[in-house]
Amino acid sequence: MALLPLEEARRHVLDRCPPSAPAPVPLAEAAGCVLAEVVVAPGPIPPFANTAMDGFAVRAVDTAGAGDVVPVELRIVGTMRAGMAPDAALDRPLGPGEALRIMTGAPMPPGADAVVPVEVTRVDGDVVAIALEAEPGRHVRPAGDDLEPGDQVFAAGTVLGPAHLGVLAGIGRSEVVVHRRPVVGVFSTGDELVPVGRPLAPGQIHDSNRLALLAALDEAGFPTVDLGLVADDEAAIADAVADGVARCDAVVTSGGVSMGDFDFVKVVLDRVGDMRWMQVAIRPAKPLAFGTVERAAERAAEQAADRVDGSAVVPVFGLPGNPVSSLVSFELFARPGLRRMAGHADDDLDRPLVSAVADEALRRRPDGKIHLVRAVCRWDAGSATFRVASAGAQGSHHLTAMADANALVVLPDGDGVAAGDRVDVRLLGRR
Ligand code: AMP
Ligand code: MG
Repeated sequence: MALLPLEEARRHVLDRCPPSAPAPVPLAEAAGCVLAEVVVAPGPIPPFANTAMDGFAVRAVDTAGAGDVVPVELRIVGTMRAGMAPDAALDRPLGPGEALRIMTGAPMPPGADAVVPVEVTRVDGDVVAIALEAEPGRHVRPAGDDLEPGDQVFAAGTVLGPAHLGVLAGIGRSEVVVHRRPVVGVFSTGDELVPVGRPLAPGQIHDSNRLALLAALDEAGFPTVDLGLVADDEAAIADAVADGVARCDAVVTSGGVSMGDFDFVKVVLDRVGDMRWMQVAIRPAKPLAFGTVERAAERAAEQAADRVDGSAVVPVFGLPGNPVSSLVSFELFARPGLRRMAGHADDDLDRPLVSAVADEALRRRPDGKIHLVRAVCRWDAGSATFRVASAGAQGSHHLTAMADANALVVLPDGDGVAAGDRVDVRLLGRR
Protein backbone atom coordinates (compact mmCIF):
# COMPACT_ATOMS: atom_id res chain seq x y z
CA MET A 1 0.00 0.00 0.00
CA ALA A 2 1.40 3.41 -0.97
CA LEU A 3 2.35 5.69 1.86
CA LEU A 4 0.07 8.69 2.28
CA PRO A 5 1.69 12.08 2.97
CA LEU A 6 0.99 13.24 6.51
CA GLU A 7 -0.81 16.40 5.43
CA GLU A 8 -3.11 14.44 3.12
CA ALA A 9 -4.00 12.01 5.89
CA ARG A 10 -4.66 14.89 8.26
CA ARG A 11 -6.84 16.66 5.70
CA HIS A 12 -8.90 13.50 5.27
CA VAL A 13 -9.40 13.24 9.02
CA LEU A 14 -9.98 16.92 9.77
CA ASP A 15 -12.54 17.29 6.96
CA ARG A 16 -14.62 14.64 8.71
CA CYS A 17 -14.54 16.31 12.12
CA PRO A 18 -16.96 19.23 11.68
CA PRO A 19 -17.58 21.68 14.55
CA SER A 20 -20.32 20.55 16.93
CA ALA A 21 -23.64 22.41 16.88
CA PRO A 22 -23.76 25.54 19.06
CA ALA A 23 -25.37 24.94 22.44
CA PRO A 24 -25.80 26.99 25.61
CA VAL A 25 -23.70 25.90 28.58
CA PRO A 26 -23.50 27.27 32.12
CA LEU A 27 -20.71 29.82 32.33
CA ALA A 28 -18.99 27.70 34.98
CA GLU A 29 -18.52 24.94 32.40
CA ALA A 30 -17.34 27.16 29.56
CA ALA A 31 -13.62 27.48 30.32
CA GLY A 32 -11.63 26.31 27.32
CA CYS A 33 -14.69 26.23 25.06
CA VAL A 34 -14.97 28.07 21.75
CA LEU A 35 -17.64 30.75 21.67
CA ALA A 36 -20.38 30.22 19.07
CA GLU A 37 -22.13 33.58 19.48
CA VAL A 38 -21.22 37.26 19.32
CA VAL A 39 -21.36 38.63 22.84
CA VAL A 40 -22.59 42.22 23.20
CA ALA A 41 -22.46 44.30 26.37
CA PRO A 42 -26.01 44.87 27.69
CA GLY A 43 -24.89 47.78 29.89
CA PRO A 44 -21.82 49.76 30.88
CA ILE A 45 -18.86 48.16 32.66
CA PRO A 46 -18.11 49.40 35.24
CA PRO A 47 -21.86 49.86 35.75
CA PHE A 48 -21.33 53.02 37.84
CA ALA A 49 -18.48 55.44 38.51
CA ASN A 50 -16.50 54.11 41.45
CA THR A 51 -13.25 54.69 43.27
CA ALA A 52 -10.04 52.84 42.43
CA MET A 53 -8.50 53.67 45.82
CA ASP A 54 -9.35 53.72 49.50
CA GLY A 55 -9.39 57.37 50.51
CA PHE A 56 -11.63 60.43 50.29
CA ALA A 57 -14.05 61.44 47.59
CA VAL A 58 -13.66 65.18 47.03
CA ARG A 59 -14.40 68.02 44.67
CA ALA A 60 -11.03 68.35 42.86
CA VAL A 61 -11.37 72.13 42.94
CA ASP A 62 -11.28 72.01 46.76
CA THR A 63 -7.79 70.48 46.76
CA ALA A 64 -6.21 73.27 44.70
CA GLY A 65 -2.79 74.18 46.10
CA ALA A 66 -2.65 71.26 48.54
CA GLY A 67 0.89 70.12 49.37
CA ASP A 68 3.07 68.58 52.03
CA VAL A 69 3.82 71.88 53.70
CA VAL A 70 0.38 73.45 53.47
CA PRO A 71 -2.31 70.78 53.30
CA VAL A 72 -5.92 71.54 52.51
CA GLU A 73 -8.39 70.67 55.24
CA LEU A 74 -11.83 69.28 54.40
CA ARG A 75 -14.69 68.21 56.63
CA ILE A 76 -15.55 64.48 56.64
CA VAL A 77 -19.30 64.10 56.11
CA GLY A 78 -19.70 60.32 56.00
CA THR A 79 -18.33 56.94 54.96
CA MET A 80 -19.04 55.08 51.72
CA ARG A 81 -18.36 51.34 51.67
CA ALA A 82 -18.30 49.08 48.61
CA GLY A 83 -21.81 47.81 47.99
CA MET A 84 -23.58 50.95 49.21
CA ALA A 85 -25.88 52.86 46.87
CA PRO A 86 -24.44 56.21 45.62
CA ASP A 87 -26.76 58.23 47.86
CA ALA A 88 -26.56 55.94 50.89
CA ALA A 89 -23.88 57.83 52.81
CA LEU A 90 -24.95 61.32 51.73
CA ASP A 91 -28.44 62.14 50.44
CA ARG A 92 -27.30 65.32 48.67
CA PRO A 93 -24.35 66.24 46.43
CA LEU A 94 -21.00 66.70 48.15
CA GLY A 95 -20.64 70.38 48.96
CA PRO A 96 -17.68 72.79 48.95
CA GLY A 97 -15.10 72.00 51.67
CA GLU A 98 -16.48 68.48 52.19
CA ALA A 99 -14.93 65.01 51.82
CA LEU A 100 -16.51 61.58 51.99
CA ARG A 101 -14.48 58.66 53.30
CA ILE A 102 -14.66 56.02 50.53
CA MET A 103 -13.46 52.42 49.97
CA THR A 104 -12.25 50.83 46.72
CA GLY A 105 -15.18 49.79 44.51
CA ALA A 106 -17.71 52.06 46.25
CA PRO A 107 -19.79 54.37 44.01
CA MET A 108 -18.67 57.98 43.69
CA PRO A 109 -21.16 60.19 45.55
CA PRO A 110 -22.88 62.91 43.49
CA GLY A 111 -20.85 66.13 43.47
CA ALA A 112 -17.47 64.43 43.98
CA ASP A 113 -15.15 64.16 40.96
CA ALA A 114 -11.85 62.87 42.39
CA VAL A 115 -10.47 60.58 45.06
CA VAL A 116 -7.55 61.41 47.32
CA PRO A 117 -5.80 58.21 48.42
CA VAL A 118 -5.69 57.60 52.14
CA GLU A 119 -1.86 57.54 51.92
CA VAL A 120 -1.68 61.33 51.37
CA THR A 121 -4.14 62.27 54.10
CA ARG A 122 -4.14 62.70 57.85
CA VAL A 123 -7.36 62.54 59.83
CA ASP A 124 -8.05 64.50 62.98
CA GLY A 125 -11.57 63.99 64.27
CA ASP A 126 -13.96 64.89 61.45
CA VAL A 127 -11.30 66.83 59.51
CA VAL A 128 -9.03 65.39 56.87
CA ALA A 129 -5.79 67.13 55.90
CA ILE A 130 -4.94 66.51 52.24
CA ALA A 131 -1.30 66.83 51.16
CA LEU A 132 -1.71 66.40 47.39
CA GLU A 133 -3.67 68.28 44.77
CA ALA A 134 -6.16 66.04 42.90
CA GLU A 135 -7.13 66.78 39.32
CA PRO A 136 -10.72 65.97 38.24
CA GLY A 137 -11.19 62.25 37.54
CA ARG A 138 -8.17 61.19 39.60
CA HIS A 139 -8.57 57.58 40.87
CA VAL A 140 -12.14 57.48 39.55
CA ARG A 141 -13.19 54.58 37.28
CA PRO A 142 -15.98 56.08 35.14
CA ALA A 143 -19.07 54.08 34.21
CA GLY A 144 -18.50 52.38 30.84
CA ASP A 145 -14.72 52.80 31.06
CA ASP A 146 -14.17 49.14 30.03
CA LEU A 147 -17.35 48.49 28.01
CA GLU A 148 -20.11 50.75 26.72
CA PRO A 149 -23.63 49.34 26.19
CA GLY A 150 -23.81 47.71 22.75
CA ASP A 151 -20.05 47.18 22.47
CA GLN A 152 -19.03 43.84 20.97
CA VAL A 153 -17.40 42.06 23.88
CA PHE A 154 -16.17 38.90 22.13
CA ALA A 155 -16.41 37.60 18.57
CA ALA A 156 -17.68 34.12 17.74
CA GLY A 157 -14.67 31.80 17.68
CA THR A 158 -13.08 33.25 20.81
CA VAL A 159 -11.48 30.57 22.96
CA LEU A 160 -12.71 31.25 26.47
CA GLY A 161 -9.95 31.61 29.06
CA PRO A 162 -10.19 32.67 32.68
CA ALA A 163 -10.36 36.41 31.92
CA HIS A 164 -13.08 35.83 29.29
CA LEU A 165 -15.16 34.03 31.92
CA GLY A 166 -14.56 36.95 34.25
CA VAL A 167 -15.77 39.45 31.65
CA LEU A 168 -18.85 37.33 30.87
CA ALA A 169 -19.67 37.07 34.57
CA GLY A 170 -19.11 40.82 34.81
CA ILE A 171 -21.80 41.52 32.23
CA GLY A 172 -24.13 39.14 34.04
CA ARG A 173 -24.06 36.15 31.72
CA SER A 174 -24.83 32.87 33.44
CA GLU A 175 -24.83 30.93 30.16
CA VAL A 176 -22.96 31.23 26.89
CA VAL A 177 -23.44 29.56 23.53
CA VAL A 178 -20.37 27.48 22.64
CA HIS A 179 -19.34 24.56 20.51
CA ARG A 180 -19.63 21.80 23.08
CA ARG A 181 -16.52 19.72 23.52
CA PRO A 182 -17.06 16.22 22.19
CA VAL A 183 -17.38 13.42 24.72
CA VAL A 184 -14.80 10.85 23.68
CA GLY A 185 -14.96 7.11 24.34
CA VAL A 186 -11.78 5.02 24.50
CA PHE A 187 -11.25 1.28 24.22
CA SER A 188 -8.19 -0.87 23.75
CA THR A 189 -8.05 -4.05 21.75
CA GLY A 190 -5.68 -6.99 22.16
CA ASP A 191 -5.89 -10.58 23.41
CA GLU A 192 -2.56 -10.08 25.18
CA LEU A 193 -3.84 -7.20 27.31
CA VAL A 194 -4.76 -7.32 30.99
CA PRO A 195 -6.17 -4.36 32.94
CA VAL A 196 -3.84 -2.85 35.53
CA GLY A 197 -4.37 -4.36 38.96
CA ARG A 198 -4.56 -7.91 37.66
CA PRO A 199 -1.59 -10.33 37.50
CA LEU A 200 -0.11 -11.26 34.15
CA ALA A 201 -0.04 -14.78 32.76
CA PRO A 202 2.85 -15.70 30.43
CA GLY A 203 2.53 -13.79 27.15
CA GLN A 204 0.35 -11.06 28.61
CA ILE A 205 1.06 -7.34 29.17
CA HIS A 206 -0.84 -4.61 30.93
CA ASP A 207 -3.16 -2.40 28.93
CA SER A 208 -1.30 0.89 29.07
CA ASN A 209 -2.76 2.69 26.07
CA ARG A 210 -6.25 3.11 27.45
CA LEU A 211 -5.06 4.99 30.52
CA ALA A 212 -2.55 7.00 28.50
CA LEU A 213 -5.17 8.00 25.92
CA LEU A 214 -7.78 8.83 28.56
CA ALA A 215 -5.18 11.05 30.25
CA ALA A 216 -4.23 12.67 26.94
CA LEU A 217 -7.90 13.43 26.27
CA ASP A 218 -8.32 14.79 29.75
CA GLU A 219 -5.27 17.00 29.30
CA ALA A 220 -6.73 18.25 26.03
CA GLY A 221 -9.94 19.18 27.86
CA PHE A 222 -12.30 16.51 26.53
CA PRO A 223 -14.77 14.62 28.72
CA THR A 224 -14.13 10.88 28.40
CA VAL A 225 -15.93 7.56 28.66
CA ASP A 226 -13.82 4.48 29.43
CA LEU A 227 -15.20 1.82 27.09
CA GLY A 228 -12.87 -0.82 28.48
CA LEU A 229 -10.69 -3.53 27.05
CA VAL A 230 -11.87 -5.60 24.11
CA ALA A 231 -10.56 -8.92 22.80
CA ASP A 232 -9.28 -9.43 19.24
CA ASP A 233 -12.68 -10.64 18.20
CA GLU A 234 -14.70 -9.15 15.39
CA ALA A 235 -18.06 -9.38 17.14
CA ALA A 236 -16.71 -7.98 20.41
CA ILE A 237 -15.09 -5.07 18.61
CA ALA A 238 -18.28 -4.41 16.64
CA ASP A 239 -20.18 -4.27 19.94
CA ALA A 240 -17.62 -1.91 21.46
CA VAL A 241 -17.78 0.41 18.45
CA ALA A 242 -21.60 0.41 18.56
CA ASP A 243 -21.54 1.13 22.29
CA GLY A 244 -19.06 3.99 21.81
CA VAL A 245 -20.94 5.47 18.88
CA ALA A 246 -24.21 5.43 20.81
CA ARG A 247 -22.78 7.04 23.95
CA CYS A 248 -20.08 9.35 22.67
CA ASP A 249 -19.43 12.07 20.09
CA ALA A 250 -16.15 10.45 19.01
CA VAL A 251 -14.33 7.21 19.72
CA VAL A 252 -10.60 6.54 20.05
CA THR A 253 -9.35 2.97 19.90
CA SER A 254 -5.91 1.43 20.11
CA GLY A 255 -4.58 -1.65 18.35
CA GLY A 256 -5.92 -3.83 15.61
CA VAL A 257 -5.19 -1.55 12.66
CA SER A 258 -1.98 -3.18 11.37
CA MET A 259 -1.35 -5.98 8.90
CA GLY A 260 -1.76 -8.82 11.43
CA ASP A 261 -4.22 -11.67 11.06
CA PHE A 262 -6.17 -10.57 14.11
CA ASP A 263 -6.33 -6.83 13.47
CA PHE A 264 -10.10 -6.52 13.48
CA VAL A 265 -10.63 -2.84 14.28
CA LYS A 266 -10.09 -1.86 10.65
CA VAL A 267 -12.25 -4.80 9.52
CA VAL A 268 -15.14 -3.72 11.75
CA LEU A 269 -14.84 -0.04 10.84
CA ASP A 270 -14.88 -1.00 7.19
CA ARG A 271 -18.07 -2.97 7.72
CA VAL A 272 -20.02 -0.57 9.96
CA GLY A 273 -18.77 2.80 8.75
CA ASP A 274 -17.17 4.87 6.08
CA MET A 275 -13.58 3.89 6.83
CA ARG A 276 -10.25 4.73 5.32
CA TRP A 277 -7.31 2.56 6.27
CA MET A 278 -4.17 4.58 5.83
CA GLN A 279 -0.46 3.90 5.82
CA VAL A 280 0.79 7.36 6.63
CA ALA A 281 4.32 8.40 5.65
CA ILE A 282 5.41 8.92 9.24
CA ARG A 283 7.38 7.09 11.87
CA PRO A 284 6.13 6.09 14.37
CA ALA A 285 2.37 5.65 13.92
CA LYS A 286 2.23 4.57 10.28
CA PRO A 287 -1.10 2.70 10.31
CA LEU A 288 -4.33 4.58 10.97
CA ALA A 289 -7.90 3.47 10.51
CA PHE A 290 -10.15 6.48 10.49
CA GLY A 291 -13.86 6.05 9.99
CA THR A 292 -17.16 7.76 10.51
CA VAL A 293 -20.01 5.68 11.83
CA GLU A 294 -23.65 6.67 11.65
CA ARG A 295 -25.45 6.54 14.92
CA ALA A 296 -28.62 4.45 14.82
CA ALA A 297 -31.42 6.63 16.20
CA GLU A 298 -33.08 3.96 18.37
CA ARG A 299 -29.74 2.93 19.93
CA ALA A 300 -28.85 6.53 20.69
CA ALA A 301 -32.16 7.23 22.43
CA GLU A 302 -31.98 4.06 24.48
CA GLN A 303 -28.54 4.97 25.84
CA ALA A 304 -29.57 8.31 27.46
CA ALA A 305 -26.26 9.44 26.23
CA ASP A 306 -23.22 10.87 27.89
CA ARG A 307 -22.63 12.59 24.59
CA VAL A 308 -23.42 16.24 23.97
CA ASP A 309 -24.19 16.52 20.30
CA GLY A 310 -27.11 15.18 18.36
CA SER A 311 -24.89 14.72 15.31
CA ALA A 312 -25.63 11.46 13.57
CA VAL A 313 -22.07 10.81 12.43
CA VAL A 314 -19.38 9.80 14.90
CA PRO A 315 -15.69 9.87 14.00
CA VAL A 316 -13.73 6.81 15.11
CA PHE A 317 -9.95 7.11 15.38
CA GLY A 318 -8.43 3.65 15.06
CA LEU A 319 -4.95 4.35 16.44
CA PRO A 320 -2.11 1.84 16.28
CA GLY A 321 -1.40 -0.30 19.36
CA ASN A 322 2.28 0.35 19.88
CA PRO A 323 2.27 2.59 22.94
CA VAL A 324 4.37 5.40 21.46
CA SER A 325 2.54 5.16 18.15
CA SER A 326 -0.86 5.51 19.78
CA LEU A 327 0.15 8.70 21.57
CA VAL A 328 1.92 10.20 18.54
CA SER A 329 -1.07 9.33 16.37
CA PHE A 330 -3.30 10.93 18.99
CA GLU A 331 -1.24 14.14 18.71
CA LEU A 332 -1.23 14.19 14.91
CA PHE A 333 -4.80 13.11 14.17
CA ALA A 334 -7.15 12.67 17.12
CA ARG A 335 -6.34 15.77 19.14
CA PRO A 336 -6.60 18.19 16.19
CA GLY A 337 -9.72 16.42 14.89
CA LEU A 338 -11.41 16.63 18.27
CA ARG A 339 -10.37 20.27 18.65
CA ARG A 340 -11.97 20.95 15.28
CA MET A 341 -15.17 19.33 16.57
CA ALA A 342 -14.90 21.62 19.60
CA GLY A 343 -14.96 24.61 17.26
CA HIS A 344 -11.28 25.60 17.21
CA ALA A 345 -10.12 27.39 14.07
CA ASP A 346 -8.02 25.48 11.56
CA ASP A 347 -4.91 27.43 12.59
CA ASP A 348 -5.51 26.51 16.23
CA LEU A 349 -5.77 22.73 16.06
CA ASP A 350 -2.19 21.78 16.80
CA ARG A 351 0.36 22.32 19.51
CA PRO A 352 2.78 25.20 18.95
CA LEU A 353 5.50 24.61 16.36
CA VAL A 354 8.83 26.29 17.09
CA SER A 355 12.23 26.36 15.46
CA ALA A 356 14.96 24.94 17.69
CA VAL A 357 18.69 24.27 17.54
CA ALA A 358 19.62 20.60 17.81
CA ASP A 359 21.96 20.11 20.79
CA GLU A 360 23.12 16.84 19.26
CA ALA A 361 23.03 15.11 15.88
CA LEU A 362 19.62 13.54 15.18
CA ARG A 363 20.45 10.89 12.59
CA ARG A 364 18.02 8.79 10.58
CA ARG A 365 17.89 6.93 7.26
CA PRO A 366 15.91 8.04 4.20
CA ASP A 367 12.69 5.99 4.08
CA GLY A 368 10.10 8.29 2.52
CA LYS A 369 8.70 9.18 5.96
CA ILE A 370 8.66 12.13 8.32
CA HIS A 371 10.10 11.04 11.65
CA LEU A 372 8.69 12.36 14.88
CA VAL A 373 11.50 12.21 17.38
CA ARG A 374 10.56 12.14 21.04
CA ALA A 375 12.63 14.96 22.44
CA VAL A 376 13.29 17.34 25.27
CA CYS A 377 13.08 20.96 24.24
CA ARG A 378 14.05 23.86 26.46
CA TRP A 379 14.26 27.61 26.11
CA ASP A 380 17.86 28.77 26.44
CA ALA A 381 17.70 32.32 27.72
CA GLY A 382 21.39 32.97 27.02
CA SER A 383 21.13 32.37 23.27
CA ALA A 384 17.42 33.25 23.14
CA THR A 385 16.67 30.03 21.26
CA PHE A 386 14.89 26.77 21.86
CA ARG A 387 17.36 23.90 22.09
CA VAL A 388 16.38 20.28 21.64
CA ALA A 389 17.82 16.82 22.24
CA SER A 390 16.52 13.27 21.97
CA ALA A 391 14.52 12.04 24.97
CA GLY A 392 15.96 8.54 24.58
CA ALA A 393 15.33 5.29 22.72
CA GLN A 394 13.11 5.85 19.70
CA GLY A 395 11.39 2.47 19.21
CA SER A 396 7.61 2.58 19.09
CA HIS A 397 7.58 0.45 22.26
CA HIS A 398 9.98 2.78 24.12
CA LEU A 399 7.31 4.53 26.12
CA THR A 400 9.69 5.90 28.76
CA ALA A 401 11.26 8.27 26.20
CA MET A 402 7.75 9.45 25.30
CA ALA A 403 7.10 10.03 28.99
CA ASP A 404 10.32 12.03 29.32
CA ALA A 405 9.64 14.00 26.14
CA ASN A 406 8.02 17.41 26.06
CA ALA A 407 8.28 17.78 22.31
CA LEU A 408 8.35 16.01 18.97
CA VAL A 409 11.07 16.95 16.51
CA VAL A 410 9.62 16.92 13.01
CA LEU A 411 12.50 15.37 11.08
CA PRO A 412 11.94 15.42 7.31
CA ASP A 413 12.93 12.49 5.10
CA GLY A 414 16.70 12.26 4.65
CA ASP A 415 19.75 11.62 6.81
CA GLY A 416 18.72 13.75 9.75
CA VAL A 417 20.50 16.79 11.13
CA ALA A 418 23.87 17.61 12.70
CA ALA A 419 24.37 19.22 16.08
CA GLY A 420 23.77 22.94 15.72
CA ASP A 421 21.28 22.55 12.86
CA ARG A 422 17.81 24.05 13.05
CA VAL A 423 14.80 21.73 13.34
CA ASP A 424 11.05 22.19 13.63
CA VAL A 425 9.72 21.12 17.01
CA ARG A 426 6.16 20.49 18.09
CA LEU A 427 5.89 21.45 21.76
CA LEU A 428 3.76 18.99 23.69
CA GLY A 429 3.12 21.47 26.46
CA ARG A 430 4.44 19.63 29.44
CA ARG A 431 7.16 21.29 31.53
P1 AMP B 1 -1.35 -3.85 17.36
O1 AMP B 1 -1.43 -2.47 16.85
O2 AMP B 1 -2.61 -4.35 17.92
O3 AMP B 1 -0.75 -4.76 16.34
O4 AMP B 1 -0.31 -3.81 18.57
C1 AMP B 1 1.02 -3.43 18.34
C2 AMP B 1 1.83 -3.59 19.61
O5 AMP B 1 1.33 -2.75 20.62
C3 AMP B 1 1.84 -4.99 20.19
O6 AMP B 1 3.13 -5.26 20.70
C4 AMP B 1 0.81 -4.89 21.28
O7 AMP B 1 1.03 -5.85 22.30
C5 AMP B 1 1.01 -3.51 21.78
N1 AMP B 1 -0.22 -2.97 22.35
C6 AMP B 1 -1.41 -2.94 21.72
N2 AMP B 1 -2.35 -2.41 22.50
C7 AMP B 1 -1.74 -2.07 23.64
C8 AMP B 1 -2.19 -1.49 24.86
N3 AMP B 1 -3.46 -1.11 25.02
N4 AMP B 1 -1.30 -1.30 25.84
C9 AMP B 1 -0.02 -1.66 25.67
N5 AMP B 1 0.47 -2.22 24.56
C10 AMP B 1 -0.38 -2.45 23.56
MG1 MG C 1 -3.26 -6.13 18.61
